[in-house]
This record gives sequence, C-alpha cells and structure tokens, in this order.
Amino acid sequence: MPSAPQAAAAQAPTHAPTHSPSSVTVIGLGPMGQAMAAAYLDRGYRVTLWNRTPSRADALVEQGAVLAGSVEEALLANDLVILSLTDFDAMYAILEPAAAAVAGRTLVNLSSDTPEKARAGARWVTGLGGTHLTGGVLCPPPLIGTPDTSTFYSGPREAYDTFRPALEVITGKTDYRGEDQGLAALMYQLNMVIFWPSMIAYWHAVALAGAHGLKATDIAPYAAENFAGMGHFIDFYSPRIDAGNHAGDVDRTSMGLASMEHVVHTTADAGVDPAFPAAVREIFQRVVAAGQGADSFSRAVELMGQKG
Ligand code: NDP
Repeated sequence: MPSAPQAAAAQAPTHAPTHSPSSVTVIGLGPMGQAMAAAYLDRGYRVTLWNRTPSRADALVEQGAVLAGSVEEALLANDLVILSLTDFDAMYAILEPAAAAVAGRTLVNLSSDTPEKARAGARWVTGLGGTHLTGGVLCPPPLIGTPDTSTFYSGPREAYDTFRPALEVITGKTDYRGEDQGLAALMYQLNMVIFWPSMIAYWHAVALAGAHGLKATDIAPYAAENFAGMGHFIDFYSPRIDAGNHAGDVDRTSMGLASMEHVVHTTADAGVDPAFPAAVREIFQRVVAAGQGADSFSRAVELMGQKG
C-alpha cells in the first residue's frame, strides 16, 4: 500500500468536478464494469470510462460513453467514481499514479477483497482527500441494472445517502450495513463462501452424471430443486445453532459420514476425481473422531470455529 497520502492530497488539482447526479465514471471494464456502464447509459447517464485494456471500452463508446485519456481525467470527470476491479491491489495499481486526483471524489469500490483490505483501501482513499464506500454486488453481469438484485454497502452513511439513486442503477436494491468499511466486504465474502463450493458441488455432480452418460441438462432440474430446498435447511438449523442445540433428533453425523462414504466411492467407481467429496467427508470424520457422531452434523460449525 502506498504511503504519504497526505502529501498527495495537498497537491490535489483544483478542477471543478461535474456535480450532475446523472453522470458517473466507471473504472474497470471486466464483465461487471461493462454491465454497470451499460446500465448507466441505458438510464441516460453521461458515462466516463477508464480501463487498463482500453479496447474493452469500444462497444460502450459506440453507445455514447467517453473513454478518458488518462486515469486522472477519468477521476476528474465526475464526483462519483465506480471501481469494478479484480481486487484492491488493482485499485492501487491504477490510482497511485493519479493519486492527487482522488481528492473530492467518492469512490464506490465494488471490487472483491478481504474486509481488512477494504478497510485499508478506505483509509488510503480518505488520506488522499477522497471518500470511499465499499460494496459487494450479489448478482452476475447479465442481471446488473435489474430491479430484484442487491448490493451490500458500508462506509460513510452520508456518501451512501447522497449517491443512493445512482447506486440503485447498478442493482435495484441496496443493503447498507453500517460505517465499518469492512462490513460490506465481509457480507460479500460470506456469500462467496456459500456460492463457490455450492457451484463446485454441482460441477462434481455433472462430472459424475457425465461418467454415466447423463448430460448437465439432464440433471439440471433436479439440481435446481435441490438448491431451492436449501432454504428449508438453513431456516431449520440456524436458530438451533444459535441456541447451541446440536441434538441428533433429525440427523446424526454418523449417518452423514456413511452417506459421504457412499458419495466418495460412487465417484471413485466412476473414475471421477473424488477430491471434493473427500474434503467434505473429512469434516464428518473429524466430528465423529471428536466423539460427536450421535449429534447433528451442525456440530461441524463448532469444530470449524476452533482456533489453532
Ligand atoms: P475481472 O477480474 O474480469 O475484471 C476486473 C477488472 O480489473 C478489469 O477491468 C481488469 O482490467 C482490471 N484489473 C485487474 N487487475 C488489474 C491491475 N493490476 N491493474 C489494472 N487493472 C486491473 O472481474 P469482473 O468484471 O468479473 O468482476 C469485477 C469485480 O466484481 C470482482 O471483484 C468480482 O469478484 C466482483 N463480482 C463479479 C461477479 C461476476 O459474476 N463476474 C459477480 C459479483 C461480483 P483489464 O480489462 O485490463 O484486464
């Protein structure tokens, strides 16, 4: 992380930014940033763009966006600057050379990273005289700009309130979590903890089905039904976990371990890589080894939470 931000802030240029509520700068044109810029154009915003690979702006420029000649120009064009980058390190890589132009801007950083990185990034931006709002978007690019989507935000309430109409262009709903810049990042990471392994579980099912001559589309309806039913389990177990209730009245970990053994062996018999279900089996094994095989598999929460 760069140092001496105050010095940079002191040299901040005096250009008057555009105060129009209908103009925005988008920095970062991966699939997400492109979709965001397109959503702003659809709503009639004046959109200024910057991306490390300029060609990613071509289609948006054809639709009326302006590609800034430099990062500094992109920052100075608007009060509101959306960052949609792979991570916070990309923010430093892009903004450090133009650090003086951060002063006076509100940077809404929708890049994924750890809560600590989000807090440190926010301190860096604040030290440069800018305002930072952390965000975590909960939808894929094709759903950007649609009403039933949501984004977590955290950081200064005033900035959130000021720019909320513009933020609601990105996702129809916004969920403000508080002043702590790390909270939106945390909520986003919690979602990713669930999302990525869930989808890999489905890829595993597809690979296993494929080994038996079934296509992804053959099993998709059953997989979708399975995912849709997960809400029942979350609603059932969550209050019990909070109450410390891991009674084995509806499931026992020993049953779960036997079931995961069947999954691992069905997988291996088909010549499919069993690494993923074997990792899940290992968690059941640890609960049983701790003498808690007669308890619900929710016991694993305590086991996972143990430090050291
Ligand atoms: P990508 O990683 O595909 O693209 C992100 C952007 O970051 C690109 O513009 C890329 O520039 C830029 N970038 C990365 N590293 C650097 C660097 N060192 N210097 C300069 N620019 C850099 O991400 P997405 O667009 O898919 O997603 C953006 C963010 O949104 C991510 O944090 C992601 O986790 C999150 N997100 C993504 C979702 C999705 O479905 N895609 C859904 C919800 C959230 P270049 O074009 O030059 O490579």
